[in-house]
Amino acid sequence: MRQPFTRELADLLERGRDRQLRLAVTGLSRAGKTAFLTSLIDQLRHAGLEARLDLLPAAREGRLLGARRVEQQDLGVPRFPLDRALAALDAEPPQWPAPTRGISELRLVIRYRPRRRGWAGGETRRLTLDLFDYPGEWLLDLPLLSHDFASWSRSQAFTGERGALFADWREAVARLDPAAPVDEGRLASLAERYAEGLRAAREAGFSDLQPGRFLLPGDLEGAPVLQFFPLPSLDDADPATLAGLPEDSLYATLARRFRYYQQHIVRPFYREHFRRFDRQIVLVDVLGALNAGPERFEDLARSLSRLMQSFDYGRRSLLTRLFAPRIDRLAIAATKADHVTPEQHPRLTGLLEALLAEPLKDLRFADVPVRALSLAAIRATEAREVDHQGRRHPALRGTTLDGEPALLFPGEVPARLPDADFWRRQGFAFPAFRPRPRGDDALPHIRLDAALDWLIGDKLT
Ligand code: GDP
Repeated sequence: MRQPFTRELADLLERGRDRQLRLAVTGLSRAGKTAFLTSLIDQLRHAGLEARLDLLPAAREGRLLGARRVEQQDLGVPRFPLDRALAALDAEPPQWPAPTRGISELRLVIRYRPRRRGWAGGETRRLTLDLFDYPGEWLLDLPLLSHDFASWSRSQAFTGERGALFADWREAVARLDPAAPVDEGRLASLAERYAEGLRAAREAGFSDLQPGRFLLPGDLEGAPVLQFFPLPSLDDADPATLAGLPEDSLYATLARRFRYYQQHIVRPFYREHFRRFDRQIVLVDVLGALNAGPERFEDLARSLSRLMQSFDYGRRSLLTRLFAPRIDRLAIAATKADHVTPEQHPRLTGLLEALLAEPLKDLRFADVPVRALSLAAIRATEAREVDHQGRRHPALRGTTLDGEPALLFPGEVPARLPDADFWRRQGFAFPAFRPRPRGDDALPHIRLDAALDWLIGDKLT
């Protein structure tokens, strides 16, 4: 058996020869990460056979020979549950794969023929592709590193419909005295209520929620590190007085746990994983947010701009100072494009770009190559045309999750950020569709090959 050191060295040499690439997929919950990664792996494994990857030159030119799964490098990271996902899609009726909840990994070795054949004629090459999937919620915690407990508490807003979901917790927390000795049991139950508020907010479609691990605790479920919450009453407290509070006070205990969370949860993710990614795709469920209404849509915009700070490599950015990341190419994609008719796709990409206008500007300024696109990882509908009063109209045909056949026109995607008028007209409504039976073919998709080309195409020439 090879020693870990030798394996690391071999990896390093592979990287040196540009034969290894670490590609990460992220997005907020339900953005479509699990579907995306399942389909991406499925397409590469069917490459050279029946996969339809015309927008990926290596595939179009017949040089992509296939891919196979091999043992991953980090044995401590859970493996991406590919078989479970494929089994769900093969069930009768087909089902969407259960989403992943933490970080997971899968390693593929891709075989291809280089474009210009060297002296060796029929030479083939290998690209080792490490695929990672992790929750976008974890990236919402980056800004938390620039705070101390008091300033973080002040930065958390509890207003509007979102604030109402925390009403219970707020009422209880308002009665607490930061200087009083901590009651562990009470603190744990308040922390749980705070986490419940976060979960209710997420259920209601909000995504600007912190701390990220409270929503997706993984193996930290119930650990004291996840037992803290902001203290809204600190607004006008004097910093010196706070700093002087005894170690066993409520304030000092919460502040300690906050620091622990920063040092032992947030930082290690960036240091051990994020810093080592070469390429990244961020998936965004723009259509889902349009379907859910104005408050959710704005919330999505806010979370995305916070999430995208993790890709702001400006020299003075928090991230660069702390971790020196090296992602050299980024894609952002509006997912589930099969929920709208094809002539709406350019608008969908336009809307995604409008939603991310500020972060995109920063990225371009920092010279990080980035591409925006719209795609469907697993296409569940078919584009149709219907006659109505003598005119042809675009429509979609699919099967709803309840098994009802549907033929519909979901509406027009606004090409720019939707205004009050758009919401008043409520021009948008679509049901969720069931995936189609897949048989032996590669999964049907829309522009997944374009995403692949941008993310790995240059390594297959
Ligand atoms: P994750 O939480 O980011 O891993 O999201 P999933 O990949 O689990 O996707 C969430 C849900 O969105 C799925 O259960 C599907 O209902 C839907 N979905 C994801 N990708 C697609 C797609 O390409 N087309 C359609 N129609 N629905 C999708």
